[in-house]
Amino acid sequence: MTGGTVVELTDVTKVYPGVRALDGVSLTVRYGELVAIVGPSGSGKSTMLHLIGTLDRPSAGRVRIDGHDVAALGDRQLSALRSTRIGFVFQQFHLAPNVPVRDNVADGLLYAGVPLRERRRRAEAALARVGLGHRLDHRPHELSGGERQRVAIARAVVGAPALLLADEPTGNLDSASGAGVLALLRDLHATGTTIVVITHDLEVAAGLPRRVQMRDGRIVADHRPVEVPA
Ligand code: ADP
Ligand code: MG
Repeated sequence: MTGGTVVELTDVTKVYPGVRALDGVSLTVRYGELVAIVGPSGSGKSTMLHLIGTLDRPSAGRVRIDGHDVAALGDRQLSALRSTRIGFVFQQFHLAPNVPVRDNVADGLLYAGVPLRERRRRAEAALARVGLGHRLDHRPHELSGGERQRVAIARAVVGAPALLLADEPTGNLDSASGAGVLALLRDLHATGTTIVVITHDLEVAAGLPRRVQMRDGRIVADHRPVEVPA
């Protein structure tokens, strides 16, 4: 699928009472890209990520995700698309407390109809991939913030989604843990995962190949890597 378009926003607007959170945004992301979304607080970054993640529908404009026009799908089809093709990571980790890490990750496959044993096997593989193969039976509260975020990332990618969406994944971490999480996202990207990550950290963003900058609900800059002819 590399080369095709996984995200296509065309003139998308999102209006909340009294607020135009997104104002005519167009954005294309291809399979295999790693894209940073940057911009001041309130500029519409999370709103855009929610629309890309099909957690919300636009007020106007077209949203196409992984080949589907979101407007053509009912809520159940949309939730199927979301649970099988999109992985989410948030600033607050959102792990189930008192549930071992292995099962927190295995739950990422609930909607895929995979039997429990296989879910756990894949969860262990995903945890090994994020460097936590030695923490399978730990509870989230027994882990550091950086480790918790790694668990959340393992859960998000265990189903091999077409798209990994992360909203300020380093926002609650010290800089060393944050750097580790970023390095992990880069590793996942290097092995083919498509990632859109919101960050307020300009240093983090500067190290990423493409940076989409937002202000007042609009995309004001889109810094892409220079394509070198083969
Ligand atoms: P960012 O993630 O860049 O900080 P957001 O997308 O969260 O920005 O918010 C953009 C604007 O939309 C802000 O003015 C915010 O207050 C408003 N907004 C976001 N979500 C809602 C909501 N559910 N209801 C009302 N206003 C919202
Ligand atoms: Mg936000």
